[in-house]
Amino acid sequence: MLLEQFLEECERLLEAHLSGKREDNVLPELKRFLSLLDRSELSHFSSLGEYLSKFISYLSRIDEFPHDRKVKRLKNGLEMIAKLRNFFLLHNSEEIESLLGRPVSPSTPIKYAYSVGEARSKILKRMDIETIGDLIQYFPRDYEDRRIIMPISSIVPDRKVSVKGRLLNFSAKKASGYTIISAVVSDGFGQLLLKWFNQDYIIQKLRRDREYLIHGLAKETPFGPMEMNSPEIEEIQGEVPREILPVYSLTSGISMKMMRKIVKRNLGLVRSLDDLVPSSITTERGLLPRKHAFTAIHFPKSLYEIRKARESLAYEEFFLFETTILFRKRQIRKEYQGLQKEISGVLSKRLIESLPFELTKDQVTAFEEIRDDMRAASPMNRLLQGDVGSGKTLVAELAMVDNYEAGYQSALMVPTSVLAMQHYEKIKRELSPIGIETGLLTGSLKKNEQDFVRMRLKKGEIDVVVGTHALIQDGVEFKNLGLVVVDEQHRFGVKQRETLTTKGKLLDSLVMTATPIPRTLALTVYGDLDISTILTLPKGRSPVRTIILARKRLKDLYSYISDELKMGHQAFFIYPLIEESEQVDLKNATDEATKLREEVFPGVGVELLHGRLNDNEKQEIMQRFRSRQSMILVSTTVVEVGIDIPTATVMVIEHPERFGMAQLHQLRGRVGRSNLKSICVMVMNKAISDDALSRLREFASTSSGFDVAELDLRLRGPGEFLGLRQHGMPQFLIGDIVNDRDLLFKAREDAKQLMEEDPELLEHGALRIEMERVYSERARLIEVG
Ligand code: ADP
Ligand code: MG
Repeated sequence: MLLEQFLEECERLLEAHLSGKREDNVLPELKRFLSLLDRSELSHFSSLGEYLSKFISYLSRIDEFPHDRKVKRLKNGLEMIAKLRNFFLLHNSEEIESLLGRPVSPSTPIKYAYSVGEARSKILKRMDIETIGDLIQYFPRDYEDRRIIMPISSIVPDRKVSVKGRLLNFSAKKASGYTIISAVVSDGFGQLLLKWFNQDYIIQKLRRDREYLIHGLAKETPFGPMEMNSPEIEEIQGEVPREILPVYSLTSGISMKMMRKIVKRNLGLVRSLDDLVPSSITTERGLLPRKHAFTAIHFPKSLYEIRKARESLAYEEFFLFETTILFRKRQIRKEYQGLQKEISGVLSKRLIESLPFELTKDQVTAFEEIRDDMRAASPMNRLLQGDVGSGKTLVAELAMVDNYEAGYQSALMVPTSVLAMQHYEKIKRELSPIGIETGLLTGSLKKNEQDFVRMRLKKGEIDVVVGTHALIQDGVEFKNLGLVVVDEQHRFGVKQRETLTTKGKLLDSLVMTATPIPRTLALTVYGDLDISTILTLPKGRSPVRTIILARKRLKDLYSYISDELKMGHQAFFIYPLIEESEQVDLKNATDEATKLREEVFPGVGVELLHGRLNDNEKQEIMQRFRSRQSMILVSTTVVEVGIDIPTATVMVIEHPERFGMAQLHQLRGRVGRSNLKSICVMVMNKAISDDALSRLREFASTSSGFDVAELDLRLRGPGEFLGLRQHGMPQFLIGDIVNDRDLLFKAREDAKQLMEEDPELLEHGALRIEMERVYSERARLIEVG
C-alpha cells in the first residue's frame, strides 16, 4: 500500500484502541501494515524510512504500558501521523513554487493564455472558460492516480485503477448514430477490454502493438476479461512518472493531455491570488493557504492533499459568502434609519389574556425578539420558522397589535385565498375587541369591493389587512404601512416579498414558514434574515401517527373513520391535482366525493373543495366544515397550507407518491392541531415503485418538520429543495451545503468573529474586493429584501 493508505490504517488502529473498541496488542498490527507498505515509497520520499522507524519505535513498547501511559502514547501517535501527512503528503512551499510558472493576470482573455491561441480558445469558450481566471477555477471532475500501476490480472472490479498494456487489436463500429470503439490490451498475464461510445477521436490514438497507460473503472463481465468503459488512454513514451493527474470534463476538439498542459502552464496565475481567509483562521482550522489550495486541486501530491485542497476552497467560498451577508447587513443598519416604534405592550397583553390557552415558551421568545426589532432603529428583517401547528399566526397577530399601538398599518400576505379568508376571520374575531379595524383583499373579490378596500387602506381606515398577491399589485397604497408579514413564505419568490416591502419606507418585515429549513439552508438562503424558531408545540399535542395503507384495506380505514365521526371528529381526503386544469384528476376527486357521500358515509355531510370554485363557494364550504355541518372534506391541495380545523383528526392522502416531502408534511399538519389523537393515512397503490415506497416509509418515520426537511434535502439535494434557485440561493462552485455543512457552520462562526474585530474590513482589502466582485448581484437582493 501507499504511504497515505498506511497512515490511514495506522490512524484507524490507534483510534480504535483509544476508544476502547480494540483491546488486543497494537504492535503486531502496526508491523503488519509496515510490511504491506509499497517499497518504492521509501525511495520516493527521502528520509521517510527514518521517520517511520521513529514512529514505530515510539509505539513499540506500548502494549506493556499501564493504561494512562498507553493512552498518552496513542494520542501522541495520532499527532505523529498528522505530522507525517503534512510533511510527506502535502507540497511544501518550494514544490509549489516550482509548479507555478510565470505570473499571469486572472482577467486575461483565454486566447492569450500560454498554449492556447485563437483556435483552442474557441473550444475552451464552449466550456465556459473565457479568461485565465475561469481556467484556474475549472476544477477537475476526477483524478487519475498513477502512483500504483496494477497488473491486469489483479484488478478489483468497480474501483478506479491504472494499468499498463500492449494494444492487441481494436475496431470501430457504427450503429444507428453511435460509434463504438473497442480495443483489447494485455500485459502478458491478463487481458482487458476497452470501450468508448461516440468518442471518435480516440481512434487516432490507437496503434497496434504499442504500449499504453490506461485509467478507468473496470467492470466484471459474464464471460471473458473485465471491461472498462470510456477509460483515459495514453501512449507510454519512456518512463511513466509517479503522479496524480487531474481529469477534466472536456468537449470535443481538446484532449486530456492538452488540457492538463494548458492548466499547468497557466498556473502562474495563482501567484496573484491574495488570501481571502485570514491566515490565523487558515492555520487554526487546518486549511491550506489559497495559493497552495488552488495549485493542489489541479496537481495534488496525494489523495490527502486533494481532500485538504477541496476543503480549503469550499471553506473559502462559504467564508466569503457569510462575510458578505454580515457586511451588507451592517451597511444597511448604518445607512437606513428605520421606524423606531414606541410600544407599551398594553394592547397585546390584552389579547394574550383573552386567549383560552397560555403561549408556549418559544412563542413568547419569538414575540419578544420581534418586539425588540420593531423598537430598534433599523428595519426588522426576520424569519419566523416553526413546524405546522406550532402557533405562528398568533405571534404574527401579536406583532401586528404592537405595530398598531405604535400607530402604523400592518399587512399580512398569504398564498391562497382560502387561507386569506381563514386568517381574516380569525384576526377580525380576535382583534376587533381591541378596537383594530381589519380588511380582506384578494383578487377574487368583486372589483368594487376591491376598490373600497383600497380606498380605506389609502385613507388609513384599515389597520390590519389580510390578502393574497392582490396586495402587491399596483394601485394598492397605504397611509402609513409599518409592518409586513408574509405567511408561508416559501410559496413566494424573493421578488414578491420585495415588492410589498417597497410599499412603505424601511418597513419592518416578518416572514413565516411552516416548512422549516435545515439550519444549513437557513444560513444560506435566508442568510440575510434574523431567525426566530418555534420548536415546541403547544401543550398536550401528540405526534400524528403516519400509516401506509394497502388499498385493499380501505374498509378498515372507513370503519375507523366512522368511529371518529361518532365522536364528532372530522376527516380530510386529499387528491393530488398537479395542475388545477387536469380534467382526469378533478374527475377522480369528484367521483370519490360522490362515492363517499352516497355509499360510504351517507348522512354525515361530505363536501368537495377544489381550486376552480369561486371564493364565495370556497368560503361557504370551509364555513360548513368548520361549524361541523359537514364532517368530511374531499379536497385537492387547496388545503395544503395553513388551514386550521382543530377537530379534524384524520388525513387520508391518495397517490401520496405524487407529492413532495414538504407537501406531505404540510398535509399531515392539517390534523393534530389540538389535543385530539390524529392519524395520517397514505393510501398505497400496487403500481408504485420501490423507490417511491421507501421514500414514503422514511417520511412515515418522521414527525417533525425539521426531520422532514433534512430528509428531503438528503434525497433531492439542495438545488431541487424548495426550488431554491428562485429564492436567490447562491451557487457554490465547490462547496456542498449538504456534505460540507460543518465547514459552513465554521465559516459562519469565523465570519462573525472577523466582523466583530474589523467591521469595515479595513484590514482585509482582498476579501472586500472579492466580495464585491462575486456577490454584487446577490448583495443587491439583500439590500432590498
Ligand atoms: P401554524 O404555526 O401552523 O400557522 P397556527 O398558528 O394555525 O399554526 O396554530 C395552530 C393551532 O394552534 C390554532 O388552532 C391555534 O389557535 C392553536 N394555538 C396557537 N398557540 C397555541 C398555544 N400556545 N396553546 C394551544 N393552542 C395554540
Ligand atoms: Mg400557519
